[in-house]
Amino acid sequence: MLAEALNRLVKELTKLPGVGEKTALRRAFHLISLPKSELQALAKSIIEVKERLTLCSICFNLTDDDPCPICRTDRGDSDTICVVETPAHLAAFERTGQFKGCYHVLHGVISPLRNISPDDLKIKELLYRLKEDKIKEIILAMNPTREGEATAIYLANLIKPLGIKVTRIAQGIPRGGEIEYLDDATLRSSLEGRKEL
Ligand SMILES: [Zn+2]
Repeated sequence: MLAEALNRLVKELTKLPGVGEKTALRRAFHLISLPKSELQALAKSIIEVKERLTLCSICFNLTDDDPCPICRTDRGDSDTICVVETPAHLAAFERTGQFKGCYHVLHGVISPLRNISPDDLKIKELLYRLKEDKIKEIILAMNPTREGEATAIYLANLIKPLGIKVTRIAQGIPRGGEIEYLDDATLRSSLEGRKEL
């Protein structure tokens, strides 16, 4: 039997994605071995991230400063918007260091099964940006799942009539492969090989 406090920690850690009980126990023992000051810093950063983060009013990425650093900076291709499902996907594309444009985070995909309609996503906000800013290209970078594809087609049908080039990331991504878990090279080539819709 585990000590009560250790049990509680293991239980909390198993709430993280991909962490089963065995991994949680290993992580818990690792945490216990750290000096108290490091644990305090870790706990503080977890609380702070929740308290300080807000959504960027332009791209809806997580930020502690609105507008976010990406929207505030001219990175070279500010007339290109890469549309992603989640802040985690945005972080994955940013990690590749390849993309020099702006992003727009939908916060999900259209899913009749899970009762998520276009109104539940940041689609109105995207269309508003397209009217306000001079945008030349929209890259649809949703996951290659059925729902991701359906959302891409829905958006392409809305955006193409505005005379803006619409592209979809290349399908080098394994079907159903989660963008945030892909290696940088695969993500980079999916951007490079994007095709016009
Ligand atoms: Zn932003």
